[in-house]
Amino acid sequence: MTFAANTMNVPSARLPFATHHDGRFKGNHILSVSQFSLEDLAYIFDVAEEFRLIVRRIGIMDLLKGHVLATLFYEPSTRTSSSFIAAIQRLGGTVVPISEVRYSSVSKGESLPDTIRTLESYADVIVLRHHEVGAAALAAKYARKPIINAGDGIGEHPTQALLDLFTILQERGKIDGLIITMLGDLKNGRTVHSLAKLLSLFKVKINYVSPDALKMPADLKSLLQEKGVQQAEYSDLHPVLGDTDVLYVTRIQQERFEDPREYEHLKDSYVITPEVLQGAKSEMAIMHPLPRVGEISMDVDDDPRAAYFRQMEYGLYVRMALLALVLGKA
Ligand code: ASP
Repeated sequence: MTFAANTMNVPSARLPFATHHDGRFKGNHILSVSQFSLEDLAYIFDVAEEFRLIVRRIGIMDLLKGHVLATLFYEPSTRTSSSFIAAIQRLGGTVVPISEVRYSSVSKGESLPDTIRTLESYADVIVLRHHEVGAAALAAKYARKPIINAGDGIGEHPTQALLDLFTILQERGKIDGLIITMLGDLKNGRTVHSLAKLLSLFKVKINYVSPDALKMPADLKSLLQEKGVQQAEYSDLHPVLGDTDVLYVTRIQQERFEDPREYEHLKDSYVITPEVLQGAKSEMAIMHPLPRVGEISMDVDDDPRAAYFRQMEYGLYVRMALLALVLGKA
């Protein structure tokens, strides 16, 4: 069986769109993937690719020297928070990290607008994760500095979707024509919400595989339908696995369940093992936004199709690009 090569060491694929640089990202918030055009994506990915090569060769640069990032996380995070911190540091900037809001004035009852006003007095850009849908948009209303949405409840996770798309491009060399299968908690998973919206800019087919109770929200499916995206729903992976080019696995989002018994009932709905993958294409990419809690067996990690660890590295370069762009330095 032949597998797709790990493409991390070869020049990356590019989106076939003329790129531009008119500074239109400068000072902008990043709140939803809906704000991006194909040209924007091509430009972001070109910058990310440039940073990938520089980081590999040199490690650090001083493009954002003198700039300060504030990270404000009301929900847990490993990859998003640490990759943004690494991103600003690799670009020569510094960071004010607030990842334990219970030790900040938030626990004294400070409002989100006031916390944002505080941080923007010290920093040039703010990365915000919050448990409420629309929190980043609310913060942006009050902010004079760019707000980057790092996840708002079950709403969106735009920077994750950008790095997911960059990963698909790197792993599969193109986006158009692919069959993408999203698996797991499609109701509560903000990463699949953002990724599906972003994929609607391309000619792809999306399969949704989930338990009945965790289906992709109807409004999102209608939105994609209006844009002409071919979509199909299943409760079992088996019928679609053989045709799938990208298998995007998600965690059942325990923290979104009101009834813990319902979570217990659904948590082991799907487990990807080497046996399950026997019917899959040899060049299929397996992705996961992480953390995984059992839905991909560790026995899959050595399979060259397992792209989820490369995916998190790509996140560093995409987030470096976003910081440089909103600060007008790319
Ligand atoms: N890390 C991703 C997020 O923040 C995925 C997850 O938590 O399951 O949405």
